[in-house]
Amino acid sequence: MATQGVLGAATLKEFEDGLHGELIRPGDGAYDEARSIWNGAHDARPAVIARCADSSDVRHAIGFARSEGLDVAVRGGSHSIPGFSTCDDGLVIDLTPMKGITVDASGATATAEGGVTWGEFDGATQEHGLATTGGLISTTGVAGFTLGGGIGWLMRKYGLACDNLRSAEVVTADGQILTASATENPDLFWGLRGGGGNFGVVTSFELDLHPVGPTVAAGPVFYAGDRAEEIMRFYRDFARELPDELSTLVNLITAPPAPFLPEDWHGKKLVGLVGCYSGDPDAGMKALQPIRDLGDAVADLVGPMPYVQMQSLLDALWPKGTQAYMKAGYFRELDDHAIETMARFHQNATSPSSEIHIQHFGGAIARVGEDETAHGKRQAPFVLNAIASTHEPGGLETHIDWAQRFYAEIEPSLTGAAYINFLSSEGEDRVQAAYGPEKFARLRALKDRYDPTNLFHLNQNIPPS
Ligand SMILES: Cc1cc2nc3c(=O)[nH]c(=O)nc-3n(C[C@H](O)[C@H](O)[C@H](O)COP(=O)(O)OP(=O)(O)OC[C@H]3O[C@@H](n4cnc5c(N)ncnc54)[C@H](O)[C@@H]3O)c2cc1C
Repeated sequence: MATQGVLGAATLKEFEDGLHGELIRPGDGAYDEARSIWNGAHDARPAVIARCADSSDVRHAIGFARSEGLDVAVRGGSHSIPGFSTCDDGLVIDLTPMKGITVDASGATATAEGGVTWGEFDGATQEHGLATTGGLISTTGVAGFTLGGGIGWLMRKYGLACDNLRSAEVVTADGQILTASATENPDLFWGLRGGGGNFGVVTSFELDLHPVGPTVAAGPVFYAGDRAEEIMRFYRDFARELPDELSTLVNLITAPPAPFLPEDWHGKKLVGLVGCYSGDPDAGMKALQPIRDLGDAVADLVGPMPYVQMQSLLDALWPKGTQAYMKAGYFRELDDHAIETMARFHQNATSPSSEIHIQHFGGAIARVGEDETAHGKRQAPFVLNAIASTHEPGGLETHIDWAQRFYAEIEPSLTGAAYINFLSSEGEDRVQAAYGPEKFARLRALKDRYDPTNLFHLNQNIPPS
């Protein structure tokens, strides 16, 4: 869909008059801030940004986009790596003003509106000692994260974020406001749990909560980067026996000039082992002990800490405006080829802020049946993510090339599938690979039903048939 010419002032005025929220146009003082998203690699100039206050605003905005033939981008936390939450010349349906959070502690659920971030969500639920699986960076949106699957520190105990979705309010392409749950519109509910933003704009998310914290045993241990192969081989064995409470990450980095790392290590290669235990902190410290016992740690930051601190521990390293690209997949196994390739590309990374991550699946993720939700490929043992990134203007192409060369070499150790929240703009084949042919066909049938004109196509798109 393309813009049909410049929007007239009268047309825009009529649209604005029907909004409870705010309309932002090019030339407005707030325009540049409003059009910017987390990934600084995208610099799009929307024709208009509708800062929605409620579901009726979202419905109004969808109707406007349809009548004017505008591209539609939907924005929750704005962390889309491919930049789907903005667009040139189209309409951004911006949910960031929709910050309502209601916690039902006795029912162990929380309802969050579409503009809530994980930091805001965790802050509200931790007042009751409750949480659900959220992202590693607290500024990520509940919306895009949950719709795309959602992997984080609680996932092996409590499942992916989408596994915790109990119901959602959705505004569809034809302007209906629907509830999706196990009992209402269950087909749509299935699709929302991993199918991304393909089926409508979700204005609120009801999520299951679990007792977590407020103190958890968690944190990273860093070792010298030239030990990466040894550490990853240790990790391969360590991960086999982990309790579900323990979710872990291997992080191959170049040491940032951060106060928690010794100054003489700044700018040098490090391998981090990071864990979070979502149970009794004493049991957690015991479970984490082996990652601290590998000798000569450069920094050991593991300890009891507030869960909300763990959820924002890495925020400073991932500020808004970072230019980033991801090349990701699932491992068949952490075989020797994979370990050697990761260690080599860690050493030859073209940017000091590029990283390679391994996250361990299994546990509650693998106990949910493959067909129970739209999320694809839950049985993989580990997730891989190579993040090419830079805080400098320009130069991202070189780092993207590094990530792509890395992926090409490590591919024999991968399943060929993908996690949609870590996909870049890689085309329909990769989206199909994320779901597999049967699930993709089921998602396409759902798309035919809920968005037959593909109004919502700025996403990991499932085109209607
Ligand atoms: C710094 C950083 C850290 C990350 N960490 C993790 C992590 O720990 N685990 C993980 O699994 N992923 C992680 N991700 C990936 C993240 O899950 C995805 O980028 C996710 O889509 C972001 O959601 P958002 O709401 O912040 O982004 P947005 O850019 O606002 O949304 C992304 C897409 O989701 C859809 N969408 C958003 N809101 C709605 C809505 N209300 N209704 C319908 N569709 C909607 C749209 O298609 C939109 O283009 C991270 C990304 C970044 C940049």
